[in-house]
Amino acid sequence: MNEINNSKKLYSKAKKYIAGGISSQIRVLEHSEVPLFISNAKGSKIWDVDGNEYIDYIQGMGPNIFGHAPDFLNENVSKEIKNGMIYAAQFDKEIEVAEKSLEILNVKDWTVRFASSGTEIDQLLIRLMRGYTNRQLFVKFEGHYHGWMDSINYSVHPDLELAGDSSSPEAIPESKGMDQNTKNSVIIARWNDIDHLKQIFEKYGNQIAGVLMEPILANTNCIIPDDGYIQSVKKLCHDNGSLIAFDEVITGFRILKGSAKEYFDVTPDLSTFAKSFAGGFPIAMLAGKREIMNFIADGTVYHGGSFNSNVASIAAANASLDHMIGDKNFFYNLEQKGQKLIHGINALSKDLDIDIHAQGLGSVFSISFTEKEHIRDWRDHFTNCDENKYKSFCEIAFKKGIRLSSNGRVHLSTAHTENDLEKTLEVFKHSLIELKQKLSR
Ligand code: PMP
Repeated sequence: MNEINNSKKLYSKAKKYIAGGISSQIRVLEHSEVPLFISNAKGSKIWDVDGNEYIDYIQGMGPNIFGHAPDFLNENVSKEIKNGMIYAAQFDKEIEVAEKSLEILNVKDWTVRFASSGTEIDQLLIRLMRGYTNRQLFVKFEGHYHGWMDSINYSVHPDLELAGDSSSPEAIPESKGMDQNTKNSVIIARWNDIDHLKQIFEKYGNQIAGVLMEPILANTNCIIPDDGYIQSVKKLCHDNGSLIAFDEVITGFRILKGSAKEYFDVTPDLSTFAKSFAGGFPIAMLAGKREIMNFIADGTVYHGGSFNSNVASIAAANASLDHMIGDKNFFYNLEQKGQKLIHGINALSKDLDIDIHAQGLGSVFSISFTEKEHIRDWRDHFTNCDENKYKSFCEIAFKKGIRLSSNGRVHLSTAHTENDLEKTLEVFKHSLIELKQKLSR
């Protein structure tokens, strides 16, 4: 049993000065008695201020694709920032990063813009979809997350008691205080259901600027949609003069060289990237067809930001991309590591006769507790996954040195070793046995 007395002390102190003692709401949901305070982290491991060591599968909620504090990144960033940090002007490394990103994504005649967070870049994307099409409405799917801004923070994980009938889902705000007017511009759709989207287009077709989605639904069970779904969405969008946009803030530069675009062999009109792009440094990127991006290029669609393409983030992105380009097995190896865990977890489910379930890709996947073999959308998750059981499982695993995220998503990094994976499966086994005993009491 790990003592966390120093975290407890720091948490009481933090609450005096920082609202809630935390700086992002999800951090309150650590599987410990109080949110954890960290002293340091390296590779696959993280240490709290009480000296406890954890194998970390949160990895900054995804950015740390090389694990914590990779030497090559830190060295590159330290070197570059000696020349300054923010110029409010252009520099050559920025062009290098843009060029390399487009090369790695294998897109022709696209351009990019940089920002600092996923939330921010998704706002730019929505504004551009509207600016380009001269239409106001856009489609957002239940279970998908695109940042915490008023325009889009609807129906991420709504309670189905409130969310309305599946044929016409309500837009449920995720927070108090949101601008109520934004609700009029967002159409909530059921994902992975092409008939539902067709109905929406029949009703609103010529008013829809675009459809935004996580092409692999990393924020709900890491769901891979049905074969042909993404292709059909693209056709539907283009038949109606609307854009299709991928939010690859999680999947980008993580699942494959060409990200979801390569996975599905579907080129969207616009895509956003962030987390894994710079190994933990804050950067985000909007990439899209030149013809559309030209609306930003000439200032018709306004985009600003003091921290955009700051030297540290660009240096980190540059080094990250070099690393990815330089190792032809980079994405394959990452995928294999996660697959070992996915298979191991699903085997434990059978061996121990408990309904733990892993689905997704190896580089990023989800754990839930369900009898179902495949979860296909948010409503399916809400109805069939036992979140309390997942929470109990995480609390037990946490005490045995495995740090899992509260939303079920597991992020692999190149720093996770074979030894880490074996230890993790061993801990999972004992945690599940303990969980079963607890549940039968
Ligand atoms: N899009 C997706 C798919 C995300 O998962 C997230 C964050 N988890 C965001 C956008 C927002 O990114 P950020 O936290 O960097 O603002």
